[in-house]
Amino acid sequence: MRKKIAAGNWKMNKNYGEAIELASSITNAQVPEDVTVILGVPYIYLKEINEIAKANPNVFVSAQNVHQKENGAYTGEISAPMLKSIDVPYVIIGHSERREYNCETPEILKEKVRIALDNGLDVIFCCGEPLEIRKKNEHESYVKDQIEKSLAGLGDEDMKRITVAYEPIWAIGTGETASPAQAQAMHKAIRDYLKELFGEKIAEETAILYGGSVKPSNAVEIFGQEDVDGGLVGGASMKTDSFLDIIKSF
Ligand code: PEP
Repeated sequence: MRKKIAAGNWKMNKNYGEAIELASSITNAQVPEDVTVILGVPYIYLKEINEIAKANPNVFVSAQNVHQKENGAYTGEISAPMLKSIDVPYVIIGHSERREYNCETPEILKEKVRIALDNGLDVIFCCGEPLEIRKKNEHESYVKDQIEKSLAGLGDEDMKRITVAYEPIWAIGTGETASPAQAQAMHKAIRDYLKELFGEKIAEETAILYGGSVKPSNAVEIFGQEDVDGGLVGGASMKTDSFLDIIKSF
């Protein structure tokens, strides 16, 4: 049985008061027992929201990024040992916004995945194609290449701590969602590829999340697809009611 996961990505949103209020209201809500809820919050709120989340055994925090080096002269960056030192359980790596605006290459992402795992962090690894690739019908090979370059070579124990998030870039923050059939086809292709790289058991056990304009009105249908194990949600995770509706959409 794969985990069912509803992960929120708040990106660079919410001031301190708003962040604490949102995290508290999600944590204090009734979350279905079999759903893991992850709040991807800005770094400066991680420690406090991690403490808040501990009141609900189904709710966890995640960093939205981590630096690829252990420590050193990297002004403004946050390392995996730092996240570990405040007990952060998850980190999102490879979000398309970071690939694009921060020039994060697959090779850098591979280093980030390694250092995160070495420091006991579970990884939500994002992949997904831009619109021009989808139009050329090259999305499967594009996403496989992203996975190959950043995850190939990981061991079984490593892979048990990886969740894949498929997020077509053309659907992120645009209001346009992949159809349930498009999502299922891509998730199946990813699972088949994980099988090639890591074997049947790991592929069957790895949760694959869909991301891209998930909202209460489409979550039930998307989460109902065989190979979709939940969502990585931006906009709709930043309002208590809509995120709770999504959490209850499995
Ligand atoms: C995201 O940021 O990962 C995302 C999927 O955003 P949205 O749900 O707003 O499209």
